[in-house]
Amino acid sequence: ADSFISAVEKARTLNAFTVETPDHAIAAAEQADRDRSQGDFKPLSGVPLGIKDLFATKGVQTASASKILEGFKPEYDSTVSAKLFAAGAGMLGKLNMDEFAMGSSNETSAFGNVLSPWRRNDGGNAALTPGGSSGGSASAVSARLCPGATGTDTGGSIRQPAAFTGITGVKPTYGRCSRWGIVAFASSLDQAGPMARDVRDCAIMLEVMSGYDPKDSTSLKLDVPQWEADLSSDIRGKRIGIPKEYRIDGVPAEIDAVWEQGIKWMKDAGAEIVEISLPHTKYALPTYYIIAPAEASSNLARYDGVRYGNRVAPENGSLDDMYKATRAAGFGAEVRRRIMIGTYVLSAGFYDAYFNQAQKVRTLIARDFQDAFKQVDLILTPTAPSAAFGLGETTDPLAMYLNDVFAVPASLAGLPAMSVPAGLDSQGLPLGLQIIGKPLDEQGVMNAGL
Ligand code: GLN
Repeated sequence: ADSFISAVEKARTLNAFTVETPDHAIAAAEQADRDRSQGDFKPLSGVPLGIKDLFATKGVQTASASKILEGFKPEYDSTVSAKLFAAGAGMLGKLNMDEFAMGSSNETSAFGNVLSPWRRNDGGNAALTPGGSSGGSASAVSARLCPGATGTDTGGSIRQPAAFTGITGVKPTYGRCSRWGIVAFASSLDQAGPMARDVRDCAIMLEVMSGYDPKDSTSLKLDVPQWEADLSSDIRGKRIGIPKEYRIDGVPAEIDAVWEQGIKWMKDAGAEIVEISLPHTKYALPTYYIIAPAEASSNLARYDGVRYGNRVAPENGSLDDMYKATRAAGFGAEVRRRIMIGTYVLSAGFYDAYFNQAQKVRTLIARDFQDAFKQVDLILTPTAPSAAFGLGETTDPLAMYLNDVFAVPASLAGLPAMSVPAGLDSQGLPLGLQIIGKPLDEQGVMNAGL
């Protein structure tokens, strides 16, 4: 723990952590020593982890990187963080992220940008984004400030930052990890998952993080498989689907090249490559950007200065004035944009045209995958349409949303998906490949990435 604690201190310029909790990490290390002397070996004994700021942590600020929750110290741990601590892990601190997990570059955080530890070969010293929204998790694991971190993925927030920083991230099947105590963004999409250096570390963490929780009504009532013990790189005979709709215009040749490389690796390992079609892919991004803001606008209604959120009350103002002042002061621009889009698509006059329509398209997207999985075992795609970009380089919200083009279909279908590092581009920046599996086939996904 000591060496990680000092690494975190030395790397403060990355701004990966919003709060440091060295005492928590040390206490876990000491407990691990006591446990070991009694012959008690827990799966994560003494391992110091970073916890994304979206997870409630008892007595430790949980702000979702938002001003509106700054200073909020929950009375309890989220189910996932409690499970990690019960398995022996310690917490090095809370990790920076996009505000309420809305973003793809960690630039919407109220606590400032996170820097990627990576640099372009010839780009001078331009600061790069670690991706988002789990940017602090990606930066911290990539810079070796912690051996693993929690992330959450609503529409790519584990996978895209993992790809941008050369680490591994797993979004499990929707319902594997309890959402209890995780600040809600879009409840029908939100899933927690591990971000770590490699597949094995992710498997170890995911095994601890998963499991039925009666406190989350969407939690799956299933035993947790022994993913780590059953890891096997033998993928002979597996049928790997290559969706033709993911070959989209405007994607740099290097992304195609890394995809080709991945196909070759799979072939060399004895897998069979099958061209497949997911015909509704092009509707996934607009569908996601209706459903996610709609759910967000509803989830974020609780930050009203009464139930939750730092209250700003104008003198002699009405209750409405207080709500307005609280939310105007507390939410950043991207969060406000999502609330406006969300309330618009849910409003009486537009519900059928937007939200209802998006729900139907979501079903079609899920059905595309069901059909494809009659032919193949797994699907291989790039994780993101580019390598990490420079901080401040993407200012147009729509351009930012394009980052999620390969990630959101699996989110809308609730499928397990992982990003694994697949090499470097000509600038020396990491690129990731995404492996998507059938519902509950985290094992297949992780085996293929091993
Ligand atoms: N970038 C996507 C968004 O901004 C995904 C975020 C996430 O998965 N939390 O909504």
